[in-house]
Amino acid sequence: MNQDQLAAIDRYIDDNLPRYIADLQALCRLPSVAAQARAMEETARATAALLEEYGIAARLLPTTRFPVVHGAVAGESDKRLLCYNHYDVQPAEPLELWHSDPFEPEVRDGKLYGRGVGDDKGHILCRLAAIDALKAITGGLPCGVVFLIEGEEEIGSGSLDAHIAEHRDLYAADGCLWEFGGVDYDDRPQIYAGMRGDLYVELRVRTAERDAHSGLGGSIFPNAAWRLTWALATLKDAEERILIPGWYDDVRPAGVRDRELLEALPSDEERLRTTYGIREFLLGVSGLEFKRRAIFEPTCTISGIGAGYQGPGSKTVLPCEAMAKVDFRLVPNQRADDLLEKLKSHLVAEGFGDIEVLQHGGYNAARVDPDHPFVRMVADTGWEVYDRPAVIHPTSGGSGPMDAFVKHLGVPIANVGIGYPDSGAHAPNEHIRLVDFARGAKQTARVMLRMADL
Ligand SMILES: [Zn+2]
Repeated sequence: MNQDQLAAIDRYIDDNLPRYIADLQALCRLPSVAAQARAMEETARATAALLEEYGIAARLLPTTRFPVVHGAVAGESDKRLLCYNHYDVQPAEPLELWHSDPFEPEVRDGKLYGRGVGDDKGHILCRLAAIDALKAITGGLPCGVVFLIEGEEEIGSGSLDAHIAEHRDLYAADGCLWEFGGVDYDDRPQIYAGMRGDLYVELRVRTAERDAHSGLGGSIFPNAAWRLTWALATLKDAEERILIPGWYDDVRPAGVRDRELLEALPSDEERLRTTYGIREFLLGVSGLEFKRRAIFEPTCTISGIGAGYQGPGSKTVLPCEAMAKVDFRLVPNQRADDLLEKLKSHLVAEGFGDIEVLQHGGYNAARVDPDHPFVRMVADTGWEVYDRPAVIHPTSGGSGPMDAFVKHLGVPIANVGIGYPDSGAHAPNEHIRLVDFARGAKQTARVMLRMADL
């Protein structure tokens, strides 16, 4: 591929941007909120139809919940690129905080606003734009491209592991583009060579059949709020150490290469301090230890807690029910199912057998070799498009179903995308910058071009 052809591809993407954005707007008008089971089949069918429009053979594969959209198109080389995406979105609520209808996407000041424009329907279109431009300029595709577009990412990808295990042949590939990607505040493309795992549970306790007057029961009735807070206090100490026996048994600490990557990461201490108004980080960490703890440490986070009266003024009541949502982030090689059992045994052993544990999700952590030729190639294409080196994170602090891809397909994974830090994913006024969409498509086209040389 010579420079003239690359320039022609870039120009083609810029010229056709309005068409890609119109297709994205149409897809985002479908309110495919997985948590509310809205328009899911309809969106899966629309996604498959869109792939067909771009010349990709597509079909729906059933799962126990929402269908997966599978797409495949052959290329000139026998190399295959797998694109993982999802057509489901987060709920749009609270609706009153949106400046325009979340499901009537609107362009304002060079940005497209709407639920799913970035997370993740925009990434589907970004890949289709790259394919479109390559076909228009070179007459074909340099590599085969396979799409796995699921409908349960925002509710924990419950069907995905079994789906990939069952269809290993369909998804075998030489490299995989993860569902998200983009730049940091300094416009540097970001690559994450892994994700943390996640175990999300709800703890519930009930101590009586109904709430009581606290003057009646205060000294003789059990109190659900106290039971729960005492139980929560056994999970973690003030030094941030998780106290559940065996929790750290399988933890694989950061290795030599991880530490090199951590050292090379730009520090976002100051930015986080000012953005969130944090006076001091937990345990007073800074520098390399700050970067390490941020992504290499298992966490135990109380994400929500509730019991008793929470309105204005006072109400002398003794609550009979209490609940908390607890989010544990996991690192290699912890396993979500093993830790769930350890948590349950721990509560029983501490005398809290009356606390019910409901699981709301679980992923194991996953890691990708940051020096794999595919990852390096993606990083190089990022440099070409953004004119600055990619930042390679040894892992993301966040979680996703990456383990299923690594475990069943053994495929190297990297990020190319259209996001930026203030895009408001999951929040009101989610948006993308149109310039990021174009750059993401240009980088994706370069990745496809380079696949043949891997
Ligand atoms: Zn999301």
